[in-house]
Amino acid sequence: MASYYWIICFLVLSCLFRVYEASAGDSDPLYRACLGECEKTGCVGERCFSHCKFSSDGSTLDGPWYMQEPLYLRWKQWSCQSDCRYHCMLDREKERAELGQGPVKYHGKWPFQRLYGFQEPVSVAFSALNLAMHFHGWLSFFTLLYYKLPLKPDKRPFYEYVGLWNIYGFLSMSAWFWSAVFHSRDINLTEKLDYFSAVALLGYSLILAIIRSFGLRDEASRVMVAAPLIAFTTTHIMYLNNYKMDYGWNMTVCVVMGIAQLLTWSIWAAVTRHPSRWKLWVVVVGGGLAMLLEIFDFAPYLGLVDAHALWHASTIPLTYIWWSFIKDDAEYRTSNLLKKVK
Ligand SMILES: [Zn+2]
Repeated sequence: MASYYWIICFLVLSCLFRVYEASAGDSDPLYRACLGECEKTGCVGERCFSHCKFSSDGSTLDGPWYMQEPLYLRWKQWSCQSDCRYHCMLDREKERAELGQGPVKYHGKWPFQRLYGFQEPVSVAFSALNLAMHFHGWLSFFTLLYYKLPLKPDKRPFYEYVGLWNIYGFLSMSAWFWSAVFHSRDINLTEKLDYFSAVALLGYSLILAIIRSFGLRDEASRVMVAAPLIAFTTTHIMYLNNYKMDYGWNMTVCVVMGIAQLLTWSIWAAVTRHPSRWKLWVVVVGGGLAMLLEIFDFAPYLGLVDAHALWHASTIPLTYIWWSFIKDDAEYRTSNLLKKVK
């Protein structure tokens, strides 16, 4: 279970390394020349891109009002840059392959084959499946609590952590949604949304880990745990967004929050007599093995499947087991509370 959070942390970390390390591909003078030419002329060889057509003063060509809007112009610039990078990369990779050289990274990313306009189609598909898995898990959790388990006279569930897991489900789905968007098209905005939703999930998961493992049931002690962590996570996101997108600092924050969660859950897993604790161990071991995929990075097979994509695939079954543990916990707590009532 702790490793599950490590996976989220590694998601953030790996995205950092993938995007911002200087790569062999984009420091290649031939690639740079191609990119410079493309951004000037809007063409790579025979192929020309409509988004790169700007008039001499840098504004757009004549068109309806919405084509003169700043947001539309920004989008055009992003699309032009991304098309130029993509086609220059394909050309360079073709030349390298003819010389018998293997693939290299460009702007921190392996050369991926676009599919229907998606930058990393396999990672997008697996992110979407993770999202679906969280939705399925959350929905079955919800129906279990409100329709299958007995309710209190005021129609509320006995399980004390129901609201917290509902928020967790929402944050997880939002993180995977933005992960899918980010892997579809990597621009400044999608990157920020992906990072911020991942950091928010990480911060919230830490709160949840502490509240659940220490069995905090009263409002006061929950607020004492949540308030400083919510304040910190919010400030951290605002700092990254408004002041400085500091990747190193963000990494430190992720590692510290990840370690804190790791310790919290593992100590609890070791001391608890929870009947479903074996599910925690499955997720811990599975998560540990999955992490190897992030460490042993390799070039995408057929330009489509890389280690990062496989790692997103591996979290799908882990998510299933994780929600299954949460549901077991709800049943376990409910039956304990009912015994007390009787
Ligand atoms: Zn990813």
